[in-house]
Amino acid sequence: MTDTKSFMKPDKDRFLADENPFEAMMSRFDFAAGLLKLDAGLYKVLRHPETQLITSVPVQMDSGEIEVFTGYRVLYNTSRGPGKGGIRFDLAVTLEEVKALAAWMTWKCAVVNIPFGGAKGGVVCDPLTMSVGELERLTRRYTASIIDLLGPDSDVPAPDVNTNERVMAWIMDTYSMHHRHTVTAVVTGKPVVMGGSLGRREATGRGCMIVTKQALQHLGMPLKGARVVVQGFGNVGSITAELLQAEGCVIVGVSDVSGGLHNPKGLDVKDILAWRQEHRYVTGYPRAESVTNEDLLALECDVLVPAALENVITARNADAVKARVIIEGANGPTAAGADEILDRKGVFVVPDILANAGGVTVSYFEWVQDRGGYFWTEEVVNSRLTDIMVNSFANVLDVSKKYGVNMRIAAYTLAIDRVAMVHRLRGLYA
Ligand code: NAD
Repeated sequence: MTDTKSFMKPDKDRFLADENPFEAMMSRFDFAAGLLKLDAGLYKVLRHPETQLITSVPVQMDSGEIEVFTGYRVLYNTSRGPGKGGIRFDLAVTLEEVKALAAWMTWKCAVVNIPFGGAKGGVVCDPLTMSVGELERLTRRYTASIIDLLGPDSDVPAPDVNTNERVMAWIMDTYSMHHRHTVTAVVTGKPVVMGGSLGRREATGRGCMIVTKQALQHLGMPLKGARVVVQGFGNVGSITAELLQAEGCVIVGVSDVSGGLHNPKGLDVKDILAWRQEHRYVTGYPRAESVTNEDLLALECDVLVPAALENVITARNADAVKARVIIEGANGPTAAGADEILDRKGVFVVPDILANAGGVTVSYFEWVQDRGGYFWTEEVVNSRLTDIMVNSFANVLDVSKKYGVNMRIAAYTLAIDRVAMVHRLRGLYA
């Protein structure tokens, strides 16, 4: 069994040590706003979050002592619809991070043109050291603290780092008890038996697979035999790898927090999933060479899918990337300083706000199904997801050609244009 102690604790200074995530996001926003010649007033409105809530969350721990945690919920922009965005439990949560992630959600929902705004939440805690009972009490008290923001028509959370279906069930129950009736549509990413959607678990990886196919087709590169490296073997990474392998790609490298695996002849993703099921991490898997996460990013391949963390491709290592295509499964895997280097090298980057939007798209389907009380088959979910991802890729590509910019700036430009359009039509409420 792999020794986990060295890497289980989240790195508290991950963001602060590298780039301020809000400013990194805003540097791309500014560029796109300049292209659109956004008027000064609207620019100011879109550069500020609508609502930022900071709350202290007291929880009785199993020891009997009371601990007080800090929680945040940010509604960045709700002009196009209810706030949508996950809740994370992590020691590294900061208000700057939550603001950046809420803004990202605003642009992401606009890129795929679903009727949501952007939001995000988080609680500064170390869930790995907490019991199930402590996590439930934390979740319920945090939910009660932000309950005035929540609601199917105002703000709809989802799972994020260290939160899952079970946490969503507690949020839904707490909200429903306050409102004296069951409100399934207040969260997405719920268990299927209580109003979740079929296909939601696989949706982000499926979306990554779909845009990979679109990108290779656009570049005239064959899908069959394309060599793919995936960093992160969780929900997004493992499903992307599995689906791309099923499409005929050769997965030459995968990794998780414990380290990476490399086999230039191809890895058997299902076999690695079975290994991980038994051993918890991918390292130690016998039918591959081991490789560090840093070296994994520089492996010979056609497609690189960073699907683990933020800021893994930076100005320091972007030059070493050999992939022709990057599909950003994670949120913010490429630091702003790396964009120019990747452009210079001719790397085609499908940005996070497009590449990983499959998850929020099926969250939208879940919300629609909850509100209609009528549930779709998995085939219907997957086919509607495919339509949205294929159309969104084509829309972003059109904008990129129109303005002669890369896909990231094109995605921001498309999103900001859509959000700005709604602001202009609605006018300013005085
Ligand atoms: P997850 O917790 O299921 O998996 C994360 C994976 O990354 C794990 O395999 C973990 O071991 C690995 N990892 C952690 N630290 C690492 C490191 N330092 N080096 C290499 N690997 C490391 O999480 P997920 O849901 O797959 O999310 C991954 C990313 O995708 C996050 O940025 C998340 O915000 C983003 N994302 C997720 C969804 C979704 O629907 N799950 C949707 C959109 C975006």
